[in-house]
Amino acid sequence: MEKKESRGSGDNRPLRIGLFGGTFNPVHIGHLRAMVEIWESLFLDQLIIIPSAIPPHKPHGAVASASDRMSMLILALSGNEAFIPSDVEIRRKGPSYSIDTVRHYKERSAPLDELYLIMGQDAFLDICTWRDYMALLKLVPVVVMSRPGKCDGNHGSALGAVPAFLKDRISPEYRASTEPLRFDHPSSPPVLVREVTPLDISSTRIRALIQQGKSIRYLVPDSVADFIKEKGLYL
Ligand code: ATP
Ligand code: MG
Repeated sequence: MEKKESRGSGDNRPLRIGLFGGTFNPVHIGHLRAMVEIWESLFLDQLIIIPSAIPPHKPHGAVASASDRMSMLILALSGNEAFIPSDVEIRRKGPSYSIDTVRHYKERSAPLDELYLIMGQDAFLDICTWRDYMALLKLVPVVVMSRPGKCDGNHGSALGAVPAFLKDRISPEYRASTEPLRFDHPSSPPVLVREVTPLDISSTRIRALIQQGKSIRYLVPDSVADFIKEKGLYL
């Protein structure tokens, strides 16, 4: 994957920037493949990947330190200049909230840059528990990726739960756009949906495999598997 020209001095071309947050405890190929497909589908210029400091929604289970999660992310993304790991949430004091992170990048981007907040369907269907989620949805277009095994329920399609959720839980004014895979709102940015290759992999499962003494080879990049082994993480 090639890095697209980033804006140099004198170049005012607006950039399309994806923001992808998560615990990445640890990063796995489900995350990585989804990043590639969203990059291509949204014609992004930059994809910024942001591990959270204290995961506000994860009180249970072993969490590797922020610095180990960041190190694994850097290892996983090495050789791919298009994907940029960010320690903005790790450096911020207290729990990480997406609204703060989006505001941070909005303040630093050029007026015509387009920011997109990217998340899996499971995360999106949980958004009502996020701090200032209505303000968040007013601030930035959200891109919801399909994710197998999580909340696909009886909706018949990988992202079938999203339209009813938007109307019933967020605002009845969301309407399917004439543009496919997009829901418009009269006073908020759109919500986009994207199917990605269904890879039923989660960090929870990877941590469980480690605790059972089983291999995690090929569920994470080799460099990440080696790092986990060397540091004795998740045992
Ligand atoms: P955990 O099991 O610890 O919750 P996870 O695998 O869900 O870990 P997170 O760090 O919680 O990983 O996820 C970060 C983001 O990546 C979320 O928006 C999540 O929906 C998305 N995501 C994670 N795994 C996949 C996958 N296999 N396919 C698509 N999206 C994914
Ligand atoms: Mg998760």
